[in-house]
Amino acid sequence: MKKPRLIITNILVFVITGLIAFVGVPFWAMTQGFDTTEIVTTLVLFYATGMSITAGYHRLWSHKTYDAHPVVKVVLAIGGAMALQNSILHWSSDHRIHHRHVDQDDKDPYSAGKGLWYSHIGWMLREYQSHRYDDYSNCKDLQKDKVVMWQHKHYLAIVLIANFGLTGLLGWLNGDIFSMILLAGVFRLVAVHHVTFFINSLAHFWGSQPYTDTNSARDNGILAFFTFGEGYHNFHHIFEYDYRNGIRWYQFDPTKWLIKGLSFVGLTKNLRTCPEERIEKARVAMQLKRASQKVSKLPNAEEVMQTLQNEYDLLMQKMTDYYTTKKRIMNLRKKHLMRSMERLELDFKYKELKQSLVLQKEKWLKVSQLEVQFA
Ligand SMILES: [Zn+2]
Ligand SMILES: [Zn+2]
Repeated sequence: MKKPRLIITNILVFVITGLIAFVGVPFWAMTQGFDTTEIVTTLVLFYATGMSITAGYHRLWSHKTYDAHPVVKVVLAIGGAMALQNSILHWSSDHRIHHRHVDQDDKDPYSAGKGLWYSHIGWMLREYQSHRYDDYSNCKDLQKDKVVMWQHKHYLAIVLIANFGLTGLLGWLNGDIFSMILLAGVFRLVAVHHVTFFINSLAHFWGSQPYTDTNSARDNGILAFFTFGEGYHNFHHIFEYDYRNGIRWYQFDPTKWLIKGLSFVGLTKNLRTCPEERIEKARVAMQLKRASQKVSKLPNAEEVMQTLQNEYDLLMQKMTDYYTTKKRIMNLRKKHLMRSMERLELDFKYKELKQSLVLQKEKWLKVSQLEVQFA
């Protein structure tokens, strides 16, 4: 089959910026050197533009996991343009297709099934999806967003002004325009490009699958460190409407911290999270699936499978009871309806259910890892 036409503009952008970053910048560093202001500015812009993609393009616009103040939107729209990954509208349209048809090579624009290179950068080098270049029918909501449409209309101007104007101005203030554009402009751009591309490539190949194995997305703490928290991609693909990707406090997710932090000063609101019960149940269902696969190879498979299923059912029941009671307490508290007797009783029940759930979880862990001796 004939390959689609090459997209010369994209190739030139990647090759020229890549050569400057990997050859020009090291050469400049050895011969002229960069000063502290240039290095700090680069780091700040790396985070600012990278997180405009993750907090803005991705979690705000593609998935609508929270609402943002117009000022925040404008900043994210400019920062995102500075990361040079096409307009919000185009990016979100591609990304919604990616979620909807993940791993389907003929539909997913950066399908992991077509390999690491293709999902990282290859998909942008040829006109693989030229037929739908202007079809934004899956982003009708975004077409009503003034900031999105403003950025889409003036995309190129914003890209040029932000990348060269801003870094040029900062360089002029610091006494060396060229050196600043080289490091905080081009080198930063290439770095943001590749770390965000990792989310489409490496985050679909490398890591664990604690929540689902129906698609190739993985959870990976190391990758999260380089992708502003987007490395928890297995969680993200199953709970895409959650504003968090790393849900535990110890998981590195600066994008989540930024969104949450802004909510304290009223700049973001309506942060959406998936109920803990659903998250926990998905994880346990995955453990059951894995354990069943192992059990099927045992000589007494049927018997072990029965025990496994019983413990699983028991755990599910205990979870339902626990979360129902928790919800009841929360609701009553919200309405200030707790009378003291009722409160004591409910609190007691809640504690009991919690304890029983903890014990069942411990038992389940042993059973599902086949550590229990089956007679
Ligand atoms: Zn997504
Ligand atoms: Zn993905």
